[in-house]
Amino acid sequence: MAILPVRIYGDAVLREITTPVQNIDETINALATNMFATQAAQRGIGLAAPQVGLRLRMFTADTTELVKDGGKYVFINPEIIDTAGSAVYEEGCLSFPGVYFDVRRPKKAGIRYYDLNGSEHELETDGVLARIILHEYDHLDGRLYIDTLDDAGKEKVEESLRERGLFPARS
Ligand SMILES: [Zn+2]
Repeated sequence: MAILPVRIYGDAVLREITTPVQNIDETINALATNMFATQAAQRGIGLAAPQVGLRLRMFTADTTELVKDGGKYVFINPEIIDTAGSAVYEEGCLSFPGVYFDVRRPKKAGIRYYDLNGSEHELETDGVLARIILHEYDHLDGRLYIDTLDDAGKEKVEESLRERGLFPARS
């Protein structure tokens, strides 16, 4: 098990297109283990492969400390199959350390994905898990939560990272 370096906003990999996982093998299982360790080390609740520098369609989510019947999920080659409603929720992102702001997204999300055993699943979610899924899924297409802000909002976020020597990131 290893804690992986997390790529910070400005790193080109966060904007790149990811490709499907070809084989759900031991390498992918080890990656999932390391992604869980990495997000736990920073008290994160979700992490997408591009955030650890990998152009793969895969992300992890861990709601065990957030909700009573929470769990740990690995979403491989996911597809959002439906969304419904609308909700505002404060989001953070491990690629934007210490930056939190409200984001409006659908309230519910249905997702089809493969797990670490290669089994296909469909899951209808709402609440915090839907929010994690929608945020992390965006990472797979190079979209970031900062994209939901207007120019002034983006500037504020960049300034906050710049002040702490985190932006621009060294790729
Ligand atoms: Zn994120």
